[in-house]
Amino acid sequence: MAKQKRIIFFGAHPDDCELRFGGTALRLTQAGHVVKFVSCCNGDKGHQSMTSEGLAARRYAEAQKSKEIAGLAEYQILDIPDCELVASLENRHRIIRIIRAFKPDVVISHRTCDYHADHRAAGQLVQDAAYLVKVPLCCPDTPIPDENPVFACCYDGFTDPRPFRADAVIPIDDVLEKKLQMMDCHVSQFYEWLPWDKGYKDFDVNKIDKRKWLMDNWIVPRNGKIAKTAGISAQYAEAFELTPYGRQVSLEEFSALLNP
Ligand SMILES: [Zn+2]
Repeated sequence: MAKQKRIIFFGAHPDDCELRFGGTALRLTQAGHVVKFVSCCNGDKGHQSMTSEGLAARRYAEAQKSKEIAGLAEYQILDIPDCELVASLENRHRIIRIIRAFKPDVVISHRTCDYHADHRAAGQLVQDAAYLVKVPLCCPDTPIPDENPVFACCYDGFTDPRPFRADAVIPIDDVLEKKLQMMDCHVSQFYEWLPWDKGYKDFDVNKIDKRKWLMDNWIVPRNGKIAKTAGISAQYAEAFELTPYGRQVSLEEFSALLNP
């Protein structure tokens, strides 16, 4: 087997990793590579009727179920409440230590122009870590890795200040059903909070075709659009943008790192 690759994704909330990177993660783990998900927030605000405490516990369990389906090395959830993630010095050091301990080839997070304050903060924290990961006197308790990782951003649809650039496009047709299974673990989100947030106040999960619901609302508008825009033969894809801050590689090398 070719060299085992190590990829870490920092999402803001439990389910962001699945949505933006789930298919690519599945392809990597199925090929024997090591993938870790981190949710920077504990998910305790994404519900219209549960308590924050009950919700955080429920979402932890949902994430661990998804971890099993994806074959992840770990699905870590930091103990930071939703809607309260900030690019603080303390959080920067936590992110640096997590990256160093995992020794990834690629680190992925959100862009800093994404819609949610927590997504922007997660993106900022990861970008802030990109150079500091290799500064030995910054967090000297955690040794620096031999090689600085490549830093990347995941797809979003925002165009201000500029549209997302699809530097690597990963077809996910052959793992689509498993990606849907991973999303399906997050019952509190896809069948409770997000329908309510979208304005479907009388939404009843028992009266819908769950697969169609996930396809129509998330997979087709995002993964379908990415594949179509890239002009590839696959119907569904995920895309990633190379940032200028970590180790610099060619676009061919970047694609090869994410495409098993
Ligand atoms: Zn999120």
